[in-house]
Amino acid sequence: QAQKFAAVKDLPAVSKDGKRVAIMMNAGLADDAQALDLTGADGIGLFRTEFQFLVSTTLPRRERQQALYRTVLDTAGDRPVVFRTVDIGGDKAVPYLSGGDDEENPAMGWRALRLALGRAGLMKVQARALLEASAGRTLSVMFPMVSEPWEFAEAKALVESQRLLLGRQGHKLPVAVRYGAMIEVPALIEALDVLLPMTDFVSVGTNDLTQFLFAADRANPRLADRYDWLSPAILRVLRRIVRESKAAGVPATICGEMGGRPLEALALLALGVETLSITPTGVGPIKAMVRSAELAPLQAAMAQWLDSPGVNVRTELLAMALAQGV
Ligand code: PEP
Ligand code: MG
Repeated sequence: QAQKFAAVKDLPAVSKDGKRVAIMMNAGLADDAQALDLTGADGIGLFRTEFQFLVSTTLPRRERQQALYRTVLDTAGDRPVVFRTVDIGGDKAVPYLSGGDDEENPAMGWRALRLALGRAGLMKVQARALLEASAGRTLSVMFPMVSEPWEFAEAKALVESQRLLLGRQGHKLPVAVRYGAMIEVPALIEALDVLLPMTDFVSVGTNDLTQFLFAADRANPRLADRYDWLSPAILRVLRRIVRESKAAGVPATICGEMGGRPLEALALLALGVETLSITPTGVGPIKAMVRSAELAPLQAAMAQWLDSPGVNVRTELLAMALAQGV
């Protein structure tokens, strides 16, 4: 197996019928970026900036944040990096920052962008660190747990204000800033028509989206088999996001754990997803899988399965994958 993945490491993820897929990886610390070369990933589709806050006992100062982002960008070179602003709270509690122990439901509590907008000073410092680290390059930044379009607008305005400020102070700026929203709160899907024109890209966080769609705690092992990533509920929701993003001309990435599992990844490609961002160990296997698959027939079949109530997509997809020799 290891040999098989090594053989495809430097080859592009192109399906047998010629469809190019981007396989990016998720990362969170400076050392993770090394995995770009090891795995042959196309870039970092999700850089979880809160990891630096999680491994620190005090709030990381702007200089330390900036140094981390610069190291990551230097390591990535020409490969794109998408920085996610801090997703603190929920399953990633930071004692010196979080809402405290008084939250009964931290996953649905004062976390992520809610916390960042509530503590604008924190967000401004991070925005400056990201802008400074990206001087002379393109900065791609996305916001976690956006529930309504106004939150995205507010977060973007906050970063833009820091960009103007840095410019006035004569600092070198990024050549461009691209703004993205994570789609992981179901309510946002009902507002895609408003959100999409405001964004440069979106990224679906399937870990949180599934948790909220099924009302099933993502961290509770007892619930792990209470929902299936290949259930029609999830696949139909994802199909809708993919369709609406395509119609709006906004690139959509999937960045949850789902995309790192071969059959689930195949289902995503069958829905028309063109970019996955997955855990580094998944890059080799998923790339090998893409290169052995024919996507056009899978896409036609998926469309049919999702419109036929009662079809077990897992069974059908597995049969078709085996028939294709995937
Ligand atoms: C997700 O929710 O799917 C996601 C990618 O972000 P995280 O796992 O960091 O919440
Ligand atoms: Mg999430």
